[in-house]
Amino acid sequence: MDGVLRYHARMTSDVSAALRYRGRFAPSPTGPLHFGSLVAAVGSYLDARTADGEWLLRMEDVDAPRSVPGAADVILRNLESLGFAWEGEVIQQSRRTAHYRAMFERLRRDGSVFACACTRREVADSALGADAASRYPGTCRNGLPPGREARAWRLKVEPGLVCFDDALQGRVCQDLAAEVGDFVVLRADGYFAYQLAVVVDDAEQGVTHVVRGADLLDSTPRQICLQRRLGLAQPDYLHLPAAVNAAGEKLSKQTRARPIAADRPQTALMAALGFLGQQPPADLADARLEDLWRWAIMHWQRSRLPRGRFTPAPPGY
Ligand code: GLU
Repeated sequence: MDGVLRYHARMTSDVSAALRYRGRFAPSPTGPLHFGSLVAAVGSYLDARTADGEWLLRMEDVDAPRSVPGAADVILRNLESLGFAWEGEVIQQSRRTAHYRAMFERLRRDGSVFACACTRREVADSALGADAASRYPGTCRNGLPPGREARAWRLKVEPGLVCFDDALQGRVCQDLAAEVGDFVVLRADGYFAYQLAVVVDDAEQGVTHVVRGADLLDSTPRQICLQRRLGLAQPDYLHLPAAVNAAGEKLSKQTRARPIAADRPQTALMAALGFLGQQPPADLADARLEDLWRWAIMHWQRSRLPRGRFTPAPPGY
């Protein structure tokens, strides 16, 4: 993959724009781009470009067991054929373990994390949290039960609401202690958790604006909690509606979302712009890719974005 990554690298020369707005798209390489990930790519790209900002690309392969060999390359080629251009090198989480470890050690030194012996099954059996997800009941918070071995490491969360103002979804609050409980930052299989990796990466890459699908809205309070604990800056958030299929399920590899067809990038981009409420004129479907992007950057309006967390994908996606 390295050759491809370097080939695409384009270093920025405008540092002031970077300080004002640096966005990113952070796909997990579990398969080719589908309509849901295309929407996040288009939304984050246009929001950054309209603000004269930078747009970075990060391969979120921290969850190595779920990553599919070759998928990162396929995604990069998909994005290239769709006409996206990104700043700098593509960061790969699988190469950043030392950074996650350093932040984890900080948390460990100040007593923010504890070792936990519980299996998933034990946690699931013991308590139900928000939307029937398992809430960790605090079993190992004050020490491992006798005879049990450490598996994962969890961050201690305090009672009280964690709130933020989302640029599209409005004020979002979550009581982490009541709804989630102490959450995993270092997994039983030895990999760092997405929640920690994304916070470390966004901070170290100087990301100022996170534009992504609202399927991740429930993760944001955990990420803000980690940012506060680590003394890291909190980016601005905008959670786009997540695309769902006819059955109301989020488009994903698991729900067998179709890959974006590479041969007609205009068609896919028009569909994404339409989904995002941007009302592209129909004749743009036959325009050159550069002209389509020029129109999209000139006409991007946050105020046209549909509100809500989930929106049906157009037919065919
Ligand atoms: N890698 C995550 C995904 O593909 C996105 C994480 C993020 O944008 O913060 O769902």
